[in-house]
Amino acid sequence: MPSVLASFYAQWRVRCGVVPVLRDDQDSPPERLLQTIWQHQRLLREQLKTLDGTPARILHPGFRSVEGGPDFRGAVVQLGDGSAQTGDIEVDLRSSGWHAHGHDRNPAFQNVILHVVWESEKPASEALPTLPLRAVLDAPLGELSLWLGGESAQTLPEELRGDCCAPLRTLPAAQLLDLLHQSAHVRMQSKAAQFQARARRVGWEQALWEGLCRALGFKHNIWPMQRLAELRPRWQTPRTQPLAVQARLFGISGLLPLELTRSETGADNYVRRVWDQWWRERDEFSDCLLPRALWRLHGSRPANHPQRRIALASQWSMDGDLAQKLERWCARDVPDSALADSLLEDLQVAPDDFWSWHCTFRSPRLKKAQPLLGSTRVTDLAVNVVLPWLWIRAVEGKNAAMQTTLERRYFAWPPAEDNAVLRLARQRLLGGTSPRALPGAAAQQGLIQMVRDFCDHSNAICDRCKLPDLVRDWLQRDR
Ligand code: SF4
Repeated sequence: MPSVLASFYAQWRVRCGVVPVLRDDQDSPPERLLQTIWQHQRLLREQLKTLDGTPARILHPGFRSVEGGPDFRGAVVQLGDGSAQTGDIEVDLRSSGWHAHGHDRNPAFQNVILHVVWESEKPASEALPTLPLRAVLDAPLGELSLWLGGESAQTLPEELRGDCCAPLRTLPAAQLLDLLHQSAHVRMQSKAAQFQARARRVGWEQALWEGLCRALGFKHNIWPMQRLAELRPRWQTPRTQPLAVQARLFGISGLLPLELTRSETGADNYVRRVWDQWWRERDEFSDCLLPRALWRLHGSRPANHPQRRIALASQWSMDGDLAQKLERWCARDVPDSALADSLLEDLQVAPDDFWSWHCTFRSPRLKKAQPLLGSTRVTDLAVNVVLPWLWIRAVEGKNAAMQTTLERRYFAWPPAEDNAVLRLARQRLLGGTSPRALPGAAAQQGLIQMVRDFCDHSNAICDRCKLPDLVRDWLQRDR
């Protein structure tokens, strides 16, 4: 094997600290490197044994999780003569990390089927199979750290790509885009059908509100935001002052702080003003208060904190014209290049004395005021709510011209911000192409739909997935 430090570029990596230089006899790898070793399975795979001596076969190492909780999700593991099990993998340097990091008390770790450690003498618990890696690396640690140190564990090794990756990669770009757009159209129609069904029960405007609030909840707070929207007929009354609406929403949500910060005067003054409103009304809403525990408050960017999203919803609710504004936006002639900006302009709200400067009740004042609605969020609102809602209304109204306009806008919409689902889907299905391979929001939506339709009904080893054959057949028919 050539020396790993033979080239000047190789030396740069070491000198700049891009990769750690580890000695086999003395060092433990950093946890991130251990995760990368696991992800790439740089192991003597036929020699793996848990601490109690049970042979372990790793049918799939799982997918790196970036959302907290266990390090790898959806792994497929066979222990001894047992049948293959699917579950999560947690990687720690030592088994003591299980208790030290509080995994034993965290419900997110309930589905861990294997604790992977660098070295340990006994497992964190008898019920938790534990696999030490120190003695089963496929190369010396020093060498692995040089080769893998620069790799992100989030990059999927070639052999872990999905079975559909090979046929999908043979599709010409235009045909792949056609496939993604067809899948995206299904996704849009399904969202539209949901609005239609809901509108039959609560009316179009309320259905829109529920969609907007759900979208403001991102994926972790969809349900409490949905509930707040369902309660809208209770909290939105005519001529209510903006602060009173905010107070109701924060009070009902359970997110109004019970104590002052005593360090941020501006924030404390605002909390006092909100409480001045809320304590008078609290009894009236006592039957619909949400428990604070319903909210997931960590793991998202500060600007996306539910408190700030509720402030935005309260501002929207003061604008009695929101649904009509969207209809006017739909009727307006908007060039493709200005779609996102024009919708942002219509959905943007006036600056708020407190929330333009704060992400949460307790966060320090920002140096610069931030709008309550940013340009990245507007694309999510467009593809998940605004366009499907307007489209199904056009369908119901038999307005074919408007339907065509909306479809054109949907397929011309610029891409949304990249996210973990898209990154993994690009790697598994498309072989790690760059985000540019998905030129618009519709292509992204199409890829997500394929994940929901196929990956979510299969497993990490693509068991019984029909997509590869469907793509191959489609390719052959077209030739
Ligand atoms: S489960 Fe199906 S769609 Fe998902 S990566 Fe595997 S083959 Fe592709």
